[in-house]
Amino acid sequence: MSVRPETSTDSRKEVKYINPLIERIWTANALRNFHYLIACAATGEALAVDPLDWQRCLAAAQKRGWQIRQILNTHEHHDHTGGNAGLVAATGAQVLAHAGAASRIGGVDRGLVAGDRIRIGRNVELRCLDTPGHTLTHICALADGEEPAIFSGDTLFNAGVGNCHNGGDPGLLYETFAEQISQLSDATRVYPGHEYLARNLEFTLDREPGNAAAAKLLSSVRNADPEHAVVTTLGEEKLINSFLRLREPGIIARLRENFPALGAHPDARAVFLALRKLRNSW
Ligand SMILES: [Zn+2]
Ligand SMILES: [Zn+2]
Repeated sequence: MSVRPETSTDSRKEVKYINPLIERIWTANALRNFHYLIACAATGEALAVDPLDWQRCLAAAQKRGWQIRQILNTHEHHDHTGGNAGLVAATGAQVLAHAGAASRIGGVDRGLVAGDRIRIGRNVELRCLDTPGHTLTHICALADGEEPAIFSGDTLFNAGVGNCHNGGDPGLLYETFAEQISQLSDATRVYPGHEYLARNLEFTLDREPGNAAAAKLLSSVRNADPEHAVVTTLGEEKLINSFLRLREPGIIARLRENFPALGAHPDARAVFLALRKLRNSW
């Protein structure tokens, strides 16, 4: 029997194309958090993303026969880190977080920077994107491969983006979207840190009353159980998420009612900042 060395180029290529098992966990809490388990089918080893309700995560892992070996915090807010201690005590998992957030989170075993890889079991690998804006130290984790997926924390939501009220910066958030998020494959499935889809679609329709894709989706999700929420792709987000539609003439025309100084041909950054500002009080 031949054993392929773990560190060979072949091995890395192989890792890249195997899709992880993904379990989304709806918390049903007031903040509407989503947690995720990302697992390697070959070994059953799993990583938990932002497991505030760590008992739910542990129960879900046990049901699947998975072992939680790592915890990833997308950023330092308590609703993403508050379950670390409990889950570490129960599983001995290692805690991974943005290197710049580690001292504020506490108990972090591995500080992450842009481009770092997170290995899960034998066949799954995530790539770290440094995505400031919601906070200054926010990581999105990308699973490459035939069915790419992004675990986007509070940076990208379904049909919306994170706010910048608690240590964030809207200009940096714009740059994160312009330089990183919008560059990803349209096939990328979006796994955000909170369930805000219906509310965000209402904002989209407030900005673009004629957006048929948003209206259609809203009619199907308005009374849906978040337990079975849809998973959008980035390609779909480009149709329904105002923050990814910065050059739409209709959005610009309507924004100018609130922000006359935008002018007829504002740049994408100005449109993004105006939308973010409007959404803060909407
Ligand atoms: Zn947050
Ligand atoms: Zn949050």
